[in-house]
Amino acid sequence: MTTAPALALGQQETALRDRARRVIPGGMYGHMNVSAFSAVHPQFMVSGEGVRLTDADGREYLDLMCGWGPVVLGYRHPGVTAAIVEQLERGDCLDGTSPVAVDYAELLVDTVPSADWAMFCKNGTDATTICVTTARAATGKRKLLVANGAYHGAAPWCSLRGEGVTKEDQAHLIHYEYNDLASAERAAAEAGDDLAAVVVCPMRHDIKRDQELVDPAFARGLRAIADRTGAALILDDVRCGHRLDLRGSWEPLGVRPDLTAWSKALANGQALGAVTGIDSLRDGAKTIYVTGSFWYAAVPLAAGLATLRELRKGQAIPDMLRTGTRLREGLAAQAAAHGYSVRQSGPVQMPVLYFDGDDDLSLGTAWAEAAVRRGVYLHPWHNWFLSAAHTDADIDTILERTDEAFEDIRRARR
Ligand SMILES: *Cc1c(COP(=O)(O)O)cnc(C)c1O
Repeated sequence: MTTAPALALGQQETALRDRARRVIPGGMYGHMNVSAFSAVHPQFMVSGEGVRLTDADGREYLDLMCGWGPVVLGYRHPGVTAAIVEQLERGDCLDGTSPVAVDYAELLVDTVPSADWAMFCKNGTDATTICVTTARAATGKRKLLVANGAYHGAAPWCSLRGEGVTKEDQAHLIHYEYNDLASAERAAAEAGDDLAAVVVCPMRHDIKRDQELVDPAFARGLRAIADRTGAALILDDVRCGHRLDLRGSWEPLGVRPDLTAWSKALANGQALGAVTGIDSLRDGAKTIYVTGSFWYAAVPLAAGLATLRELRKGQAIPDMLRTGTRLREGLAAQAAAHGYSVRQSGPVQMPVLYFDGDDDLSLGTAWAEAAVRRGVYLHPWHNWFLSAAHTDADIDTILERTDEAFEDIRRARR
């Protein structure tokens, strides 16, 4: 039996955290503040290649977070890196938009059946905010239906946290329960004739709970509410986009959104968000004033174009389905062999694992920490992400290490 590696953070990690605490509020902010979920996950990473990450102390990890979603082809994918370098040598932030924006908009419109046009920005929050603003401009109405607990970004209008956010910022949100059409109908009734948009994610992927696929009848019901009221149906595909279906995550259901927000995986890790929409909302999108100093930067657009061209070859999503299934089945077998009852939910490309009865998530956290000590980077309560760079052999190595992690926690509890 092997012994678990030491729990201690590395020297460089410790030194960086000490320095960061002095000059960065809280030592780090947002989702990359690791103290919010772990005692042992490194906060600082120095490089990534394929599915391998190296932290500040030179420790290597097989990665299951993919930069928390953006990296869909693997870190430093050669084709995307070549496009980045080539564009960088010509220019990135210029006085005018690069022609690559048009090339990329054309390819997105060609790929996504619900897209007649595209706009680009930097982040998912930009994209969801543009969608909402477009819907309000087009309809002249104010109310937004949003699901309880759904994450649409970190702006005051949609933040899930109260600090620094006023009631007025969210005065026009009306909440429904995901996959509960009756609750959405009640919310629509409450909005009356002031409903601008129904905002929804392709599936329920809220933190700290099992993921839930969408009930097709629910999706069709939201579409019907939007059609009946003249509101826009906004699909927040920021997290799922480009991992489940290149055409948009609800395309297999035959439910088409009016507006779609994209970001994370668009440009394989470069800063890029996008909004796509239907013709009848083109004027709404044209009238609103949305912009940003860096929204037209050419390098991320070139990376987005290269990423989509690679994805359109058609191998990436089937590869993720295969390796994701291998991972899910392997983890299920291991958990059972070690006597643990676990739940895995959501699409296999976006896994998450919870232990039954682990209400305070302490067991899941101990297991995730053990995995990190064994050299697998994953999260205790945020969904993970696979990329097309994961091979069957990588998954097998990951599984060897997660098996040790199950053994580690079992031994610790004896
Ligand atoms: C990450 C995320 C956002 C916000 O995107 P940022 O790039 O972090 O601003 C919005 N919606 C969903 C579903 C997300 O997962």
